Amino acid sequence: AAKSSGRDRVHLFSPSLREAARWRLEVATKLRGDAIDQLVVHYQPVVRLDTGQIEGVEALVRWQHPERGLLSPDTFLSVAEETGQIIPITRWLLRETTRRAAEWAADGMALRMSVNVSARHFSAETLVRDVRVALQQSGLPADQLVLELTETSVAEDPTRAEDQLAVLRRFGVRVAIDDFGTGWSSLAQLFSLPIGTLKIDRSLIAAAERVSVGDTGAVLAAIVGLTRTLGIRSVAEGIETPEHLRLVREAGCDLAQGWLLGHPMPADRLREWVREVQR
Ligand code: C2E
Ligand code: CA
Ligand code: CA
Ligand code: CA
Repeated sequence: AAKSSGRDRVHLFSPSLREAARWRLEVATKLRGDAIDQLVVHYQPVVRLDTGQIEGVEALVRWQHPERGLLSPDTFLSVAEETGQIIPITRWLLRETTRRAAEWAADGMALRMSVNVSARHFSAETLVRDVRVALQQSGLPADQLVLELTETSVAEDPTRAEDQLAVLRRFGVRVAIDDFGTGWSSLAQLFSLPIGTLKIDRSLIAAAERVSVGDTGAVLAAIVGLTRTLGIRSVAEGIETPEHLRLVREAGCDLAQGWLLGHPMPADRLREWVREVQR
């Protein structure tokens, strides 16, 4: 029941090799200056598979570039990672998204807010303070904030990761492991961490569909079974077709996200979407 959101489509600007160096320099320079004001956040619904209700949203950053249009994060976040600008960007995002979630909650639309945190920020001293400040300034209850971390960012330094996660958990903030299935981290290590949610990468959903002729998504069902045992909630990413939806429902996933269920959209559109779709 998702509305087409053609207007919100991002561009995957792919510069030629010669242009690439210039683009990196432009990104590095601009993101240090006024471009941070040109960043916008889109919100993608995360839907409960049992009731169909919206449970929360994932915040996804875009760059409203004055000449090139709405740019996908893939075009500029890797440069921001290298230069370290990812930290002030995420700090801004934490403030913006918690403020937005608090505003929605005050308006009767309480939604859990998921924010992506890069490995670089996760291993930095400032993350805990940035999260605390955002929660204090917005007044958002800590359990309404979910930090999404990739497998690789926790695997880099597991001891440090455990400490960081313990502090965040003491605040009451939730943590999700993102893109599960794309890395090769040790399952034992991953599941020894205090995580609340596992987001299953869309490559696994697509793979499950391909082998589903005889043996319907056995791998998927096994992963979901494991999360159940450990008391971790599972989110299936990249649900594009009714077949994907059927597959992840059968596997027993708790939550799902994808174009079939709702595209990422600007805040005001999400507000409308919830009113229209979730009556
Ligand atoms: P991600 O965290 O895995 O986010 C999901 C990506 O999948 C988003 O791409 C989303 O638009 C896209 N997507 C959603 N539904 C579908 C679907 O049904 N099919 C397909 N093929 N794709 C779908 P987006 O917005 O281009 O972001 C790409 C990546 O950039 C994100 O992957 C995340 O790793 C990173 N990113 C985005 N926003 C932020 C941010 O604010 N901070 C950080 N550190 N990283 C971000
Ligand atoms: Ca994510
Ligand atoms: Ca993901
Ligand atoms: Ca990703």
